[in-house]
Amino acid sequence: MKIGIPKEIKNNESRVGMTPGGVFELVKNNHEVFVQSTAGDNSGFLDEAYVEAGATILETIEEIYAIAEMIVKVKEPIEQEYSLIKKGQIVFTYFHFASSEPLTKAMLESGAICIAYETVEDRDGGLPLLTPMSEVAGRMSIQQGAKYLEKPVKGRGLLLGGVPGVPPGKVLILGAGVVGMQAAKMASGLGAQVTILDIDMKRLRYANDVLPANCTTLFSNEYNIREHVQTHDLIIGGVLLKGKKAPNLITRDMLKTMKSGAVIVDVAVDQGGCVETTRPTTHQDPIYIIDEIVHYSVANMPGAVPYTSTLALTNVTTSYAIKIANMGWKKALASDPGLQKGLNISEGEVIYKEIIEAFDWAS
Ligand code: NAD
Repeated sequence: MKIGIPKEIKNNESRVGMTPGGVFELVKNNHEVFVQSTAGDNSGFLDEAYVEAGATILETIEEIYAIAEMIVKVKEPIEQEYSLIKKGQIVFTYFHFASSEPLTKAMLESGAICIAYETVEDRDGGLPLLTPMSEVAGRMSIQQGAKYLEKPVKGRGLLLGGVPGVPPGKVLILGAGVVGMQAAKMASGLGAQVTILDIDMKRLRYANDVLPANCTTLFSNEYNIREHVQTHDLIIGGVLLKGKKAPNLITRDMLKTMKSGAVIVDVAVDQGGCVETTRPTTHQDPIYIIDEIVHYSVANMPGAVPYTSTLALTNVTTSYAIKIANMGWKKALASDPGLQKGLNISEGEVIYKEIIEAFDWAS
């Protein structure tokens, strides 16, 4: 199969859909890979490395889309790419269709086969192609939180780990899923005093088993959250109700009860956020302050660490890309019910019914 790796053109997206290592595997399986010139530069992978792995470099995005039977990328196509996508072309990437009606309509019109990373499932119903990005964001949340607790950037002026003779900072983590657990590991490793909440007792039992002694588990309810926001320095929002808007766990009135200069990192911002005052921000302008509380709510946190994120993403996507290329998309999906769940749109038809519900198209 002919596989194309275009350069990402969405604003501030520095990741790339495949590493030279992934190209090497596809070429080994007798496929032809075409990479757009400089596509991997911002992730630290130069054209020469792709050539060495067996790829052909093409100059323009138009050439990539024109030659490829399958496009492997990172972000959903943006408007400039819509017209490049051909009938019957496989596009394997993040789509998040439910959040964009224009994208959905454009892909329906294109007649392409859209396999979305975010809905591919593993045997346990987990989301294997989303997990690595939550791992990155969870770990980053503590790094960012620690930074914005510093005084010059309007924080409390507190060092998260404390020093001998001075107690460490307190971190409250909402959600003990992927983001929450990674955040807890990082915060506890820095020496902070961590409290992690969830409504799922299985998750709390697991957290209690595997996290170190400076992490305490707590059942998530309004009473506990209201009490604990008052005493904590850094709050991480990592809750998720699959496919739904995140619940508002920290309400505006709670901000007034918090310590001045405390920081909220609402990782769940991409699902609307779990803090009433959350609004999406960007890496250029990541924070804003309400009631003396610093809010950090960047919707694509992994984009700031493209080297790590590209490797983490392609670690999990490459084997699926190889399967699709080796078997053809129909046979590959028929052989793997989890991959089948990734098929959102096929040749002008919506396959993933949640998309129809999202736009109320059924009525
Ligand atoms: P996950 O499903 O692994 O974990 C979510 C957890 O939240 C679950 O354990 C669930 O039981 C818990 N939860 C649900 N309701 C709760 C409540 N009321 N109180 C406490 N816990 C509750 O999800 P995840 O992979 O950790 O992702 C978390 C969020 O982070 C998602 O919205 C995801 O899209 C987002 N995310 C954002 C970025 C970014 O760049 N901003 C990157 C990756 C992931």
